Amino acid sequence: MTVEQPVQAPVPAPESTPDRILVAGEWRRGGGDPFETTDPATGRTLAVLTAADTADVDEAARRAARAAADPAWRALPAHHRARLLHRIADAIDARAADLAALQTADTGKALTETRALVASAAGTFRYTAAALETAEEALTPSRGPYVTMSVYEPIGVVGAINPWNSPLAGDAQKLAPALAGGNAVLLKPAEWTPLVSLALGRLVTTALTELGLPTALLSVLPGRGSLIGDAIVRDPRVGKVTFTGGTATGRTLAHAAAEKLMPLSLELGGKSPTVVLADADVEQALAGVMFGVFSSSGQSCIAGSRLFVARALYDEFLAELVARVKALRVGPGTASDTQVAPLVHHEHRDSVAAYVDLAREEGARVLCGGAAPQGPEYAAGAYYLPTVLDGLPNSARTCQEEIFGPVLVALPFDDEDDLVRQANASVYGLACGIWTRDHRAAWRIARRVDAGTVWINTYKQFSISTPFGGMKDSGLGREKGPAGFRSYQRQKSLYWGTSHAPLPWAH
Ligand code: NAP
Repeated sequence: MTVEQPVQAPVPAPESTPDRILVAGEWRRGGGDPFETTDPATGRTLAVLTAADTADVDEAARRAARAAADPAWRALPAHHRARLLHRIADAIDARAADLAALQTADTGKALTETRALVASAAGTFRYTAAALETAEEALTPSRGPYVTMSVYEPIGVVGAINPWNSPLAGDAQKLAPALAGGNAVLLKPAEWTPLVSLALGRLVTTALTELGLPTALLSVLPGRGSLIGDAIVRDPRVGKVTFTGGTATGRTLAHAAAEKLMPLSLELGGKSPTVVLADADVEQALAGVMFGVFSSSGQSCIAGSRLFVARALYDEFLAELVARVKALRVGPGTASDTQVAPLVHHEHRDSVAAYVDLAREEGARVLCGGAAPQGPEYAAGAYYLPTVLDGLPNSARTCQEEIFGPVLVALPFDDEDDLVRQANASVYGLACGIWTRDHRAAWRIARRVDAGTVWINTYKQFSISTPFGGMKDSGLGREKGPAGFRSYQRQKSLYWGTSHAPLPWAH
C-alpha cells in the first residue's frame, strides 16, 4: 500500500473573518458559542467559528420573509431568476479549485471526489436554471365555460438542513431549486463541516448584490442541530423544510412539521443491497461493488453496504473481492492516489469501529479490515480500513443498521424469491444495485425491490435530471428532475369564465 505524505491542505484565505456567519446577507459573529472545525486527516484545527443562536435564526427568518415578499424578487420573471442561478454556477466554477480543497480539508474526502462534487454543484445550478426557464404553466382540461390553468408561486422562506457528507453538492441541491422557486433560504450546515457552505454563501451573496437583488434571501447558520435546526423548523415564517440526514432526526422534524402543517421533504438513511447474480460480468461487478460501498469511505446514503451474491458464485466472488479490497489505497484526501480517505471526524470513526465490534459479538467473520490502519502516517487521522464481513444472518443489527462507514456485509442467496425477500427485509428503501447479464432478471428484480433508485450494471451514478428519493424509512418526496423546483412552490388553480351566461343564482 503506497501512501503519500499528506500535503498541507490548501485552505483558501477566507474572504470574511473566519468566525463570521451569514445572517440575512450580513457577515457577523454568531450569537452562539465558538466551535472548532478540524481536518480529519491530521486532526488540526481548520477554523474556530461562532455558532448561530436562536436570535440569529429569528432575525434571519424575519428579514428573509421580507426579502421573499419584496417585488424586486417575488415579481422577478423566471428568466431573470435563471440569470442568478447561472451567475452562481459561474462563480462556483471560477473558485472550483479552492472549493474542492476546502471541502477536502473539512470533510476528509479525496480531492478527486470533491472536484467532482464542485462540478456537480455548478451543474445543479445550471440545470435548475434551464428547468426553470423551460417549465410551462399548463392549461388544464376544462369541464365548462371557463379556461382552467395551474400557476405556481413561491412558498416564501425555506429551511434547508444538511448533513456533513457532501456539503457543497448537497447545498446546491436545495439552494438552486429553492431560489428557482422564488424563495428565501435559511441554510443550516452540519457542525462538523460548515466551511464550504459559508464559502457558497459568500458566492451567492455576491451574485445577489451584483444583480441588485435582496441579499437577505440567504442566511447560512451553523450551529447544533437540536438548537439551530430545531429553531428553523419551528419558526412560523418558515413555510417548508428540506432535510437530508439520519432517519431518527428526520422523524423528529416530521413531528415538528406536522404541528405547523408544513410541507417537508426528507432524504434519509439507507442500507442498500447490491446484488450479484450467478451470470454477472464478475470484473464489472467486483469494481462496482467496491466503488459502491467504499468510495467516500462508505459515508454515503446510497452506499451499497449489503452485498447479496448468488450462492453458486459466493465463495469465489468473496475471495476475489477481499483480495482487491485489501489492495485499496488508504490515505489522505489530498494524495492523488487515495481511494479510501479518512472519515469525517474521529468521533464518527469510533462509531464505525464500535459497529465492527458489534458485528464480531454477533458472530461475524471479519474477512479484511476491521481496524484502523497502522503506521505513523495514519496516527493523527480518522482512518478506518475498508472492511468486509460475512457469516451473519440478514436480521443481525450489523446487516440492518446504517453504519455510514467503509463496512460491507456479505450474504448469499438461493434464488430470486429468496433474494427479494432478504433485500426487502429492511426498514430502508433508498437504492439497490443489480449485476447480471440477464436483462429480464434485472427487470424483475428492479421492479420488486423497495428502493427509490435501482442501478443495473452500474452503481452510484447520479444525474440531476433524474428524480431521487427514498422509500420506507429512507425518505419522503423526491429531489432533482424537471419537477424538482416545483416542490419549492405552491400550486394555485385559476378559472377564467368565458361565458356571458349568468350563473344559476343570477336574477
Ligand atoms: P443527522 O445527525 O441527522 O444531521 C443532519 C443535519 O440535521 C445536521 O445539520 C444536524 O446538525 C441537523 N440536526 C440534528 N438534529 C436536529 C434537530 N433536532 N432538528 C433540526 N436539525 C437537526 O445526520 P448526519 O449524521 O449529519 O448525516 C448522516 C445521515 O444523513 C445518514 O443517515 C445518511 O444516510 C443521511 N444522508 C441521506 C442522504 C439522502 O439523500 N437520502 C444524503 C446524504 C446523507 P448538527 O450535525 O450540526 O448537529
